[in-house]
Amino acid sequence: MTEIILDAAPDLDFDLKGLPKVSLHDHLDGGLRPATIIELAEAAGHTLPSTDPVALGEWFRESADSGSLVRYLETFDHTIAVMQTRESLFRVAKEFVEDLADDGVVYGEVRWAPEQHLQQGLSLDDAVEAVQAGLEAGVDAVAETGRDIQVGQLITAMRHADRGQEIAELAVRHRNNGAVGFDIAGAEDGFPPSRFKDAFTYLAQHNFPATVHAGEAAGLESIQSALVDGRALRLGHGVRIAEDVTVDFDDEDADGDDASDNIGMVTLGELASWVRDRGIALEICPSSNLQTGAVSGFGEGIESHPLDMLYQLGFNVTINTDNRLMSGVTLTDEFELLVETFDYDLDDLLELTLNAAEAAFLPLEEKEALVEYINEAYADLG
Ligand SMILES: [Zn+2]
Repeated sequence: MTEIILDAAPDLDFDLKGLPKVSLHDHLDGGLRPATIIELAEAAGHTLPSTDPVALGEWFRESADSGSLVRYLETFDHTIAVMQTRESLFRVAKEFVEDLADDGVVYGEVRWAPEQHLQQGLSLDDAVEAVQAGLEAGVDAVAETGRDIQVGQLITAMRHADRGQEIAELAVRHRNNGAVGFDIAGAEDGFPPSRFKDAFTYLAQHNFPATVHAGEAAGLESIQSALVDGRALRLGHGVRIAEDVTVDFDDEDADGDDASDNIGMVTLGELASWVRDRGIALEICPSSNLQTGAVSGFGEGIESHPLDMLYQLGFNVTINTDNRLMSGVTLTDEFELLVETFDYDLDDLLELTLNAAEAAFLPLEEKEALVEYINEAYADLG
């Protein structure tokens, strides 16, 4: 294996953090600052595994690193426990935006499930309004530092619960006040998108866009259901679409150098063809995928992550963080990982970023402005 040294790449003699980024898959309850969790837990009377910010951050990463999606999801019990009041939702949302901006994100979609934040008497609408107020305060705080960021909420329903219709209506009700899309999250295996068929039909009837977690803990059937029952315009992860791609290497040596030419014949199944040819965006979260075992079927380590194959084959790949606290990553870190692993250069990072900008749940004019902003920022680097 060739070791690629980041500093040696001529194209990367710049600050990855400073690149304008688009974040489409980032959970509000997975992006809290450890110090904030500790303060909020104290106020809420909630007991944490540690009250030291460094140790607590470490605990989240270790728990998330277990290779099991179920254990990974258990870490959310603690973050959700401290996000049950207007004030705490406001603070977490505000800091979330500030942290995104510090990471170079210029457009972010923040997903979270309001139904998990009602334990102390908030209504669904109260919760959405509190988060929206926090997001807007975050945008203002960022603007005061001379930077710009735009954010939207992806209102999420939990797969194991039965509140899909109610949450879909909530999302549509807040479409002019910050809600830009809908999602379902939580345990994927055993809870297919078809369980939310009526909710997705309601959303479609109201021309409200959905992205659906699929192809993470479950395979092609779940992706098919996300596209058919969920009318998903994007796939949350979607990485297991690679199971519908076959690459056959032949042993031919046409160039006569006594080595296999290593030319692979690629065959796409109907589902993979649909996802690629229709440009359904894949919200790939490299580190998270390794932690939850979503890509363990393809081999070990980031080198075996199929995102590079999907990208090379022309799938609409976008790069995301999923849960910055649990994975201990930023979008900058994820970009750096790809540069180190797959030797991506500035053109690749630009393409992945434009993929995300074009897949954003934004009106066309705003999407075009975002694309132009990103292109100009990259052009200035060249
Ligand atoms: Zn997710």
